[in-house]
Amino acid sequence: MGLVSAKGMLDKAFKEGYAVGHFNINNLEWTKAILLTAQEMNSPVILGVSEGAAKYMTGYIVVADMVKAMVDSLNITVPVALHLDHGSYEGALKAIEAGFSSVMFDGSHYSIEENIKLTKEMVERTRKLGISLEAEVGAIGGEEDGVVGGGEVADPKECKMIADLGVDFLAAGIGNIHGKYPENWQGLNFEVLDAVNKITNETPLVLHGGTGIPVDMIKKAISMGVSKINVNTECQLVFAEATRKYIEAGKDLMGKGFDPRKLLAPGTDAIKQVVKEKMELFGSVNKA
Ligand SMILES: [Zn+2]
Repeated sequence: MGLVSAKGMLDKAFKEGYAVGHFNINNLEWTKAILLTAQEMNSPVILGVSEGAAKYMTGYIVVADMVKAMVDSLNITVPVALHLDHGSYEGALKAIEAGFSSVMFDGSHYSIEENIKLTKEMVERTRKLGISLEAEVGAIGGEEDGVVGGGEVADPKECKMIADLGVDFLAAGIGNIHGKYPENWQGLNFEVLDAVNKITNETPLVLHGGTGIPVDMIKKAISMGVSKINVNTECQLVFAEATRKYIEAGKDLMGKGFDPRKLLAPGTDAIKQVVKEKMELFGSVNKA
């Protein structure tokens, strides 16, 4: 089937009241685990790649070519979008050129005027190529590739200004945080989410920092227009935990347990389990 824009899958999710999972990838194992699970669950899926992860995998072209080839070789038939996560303007252009089917241009750290100007340019570029575009208003808390925020909340009026440019889906801070949530976290700000949803003319909304948000808050957010939920940290945590257990049990010292295909298998299976649980929670199972 190849890669598809995320616009169709998210418009459908918005209308039907579920969310599509965006799962960040770091390497071949991550990609394989997520693609196989999406196929098994008959769910659409978005593979997210941060600029840091793209650099780690030696570039956007390598990532795009690996994902496209893997979709073909695994006979994946569910819709798959390859999406740049938190892209800079330059990064977005490079990802588009390399063959990504979706990009996020994150202009949230600019003034609203500059964010509007650059997002508008990016709408024009992506639209004629049929590539979906995510924009962001207001910083989302936590750390993403070295950028730290504090559980910030977006201004609904600014959200409307960015949504009106014609972006396909919009990330707005509603008290969500990247990484692990602190003990004293106040929870999602549903008042702001409701205001943003009402004012942005049916633009699907994106919830970043999906790891550790309680199930009832996730469900409520989906009922209020959140159609894409980003999951990154949780896959990292379970991968590390499963790998640590394997080594602590001394399994790498038994037989050919040191073989990377064996060593990385428990972590890969743990990612599959998280992806499956998220797809069930988000309601995207059998929505391919
Ligand atoms: Zn994010």
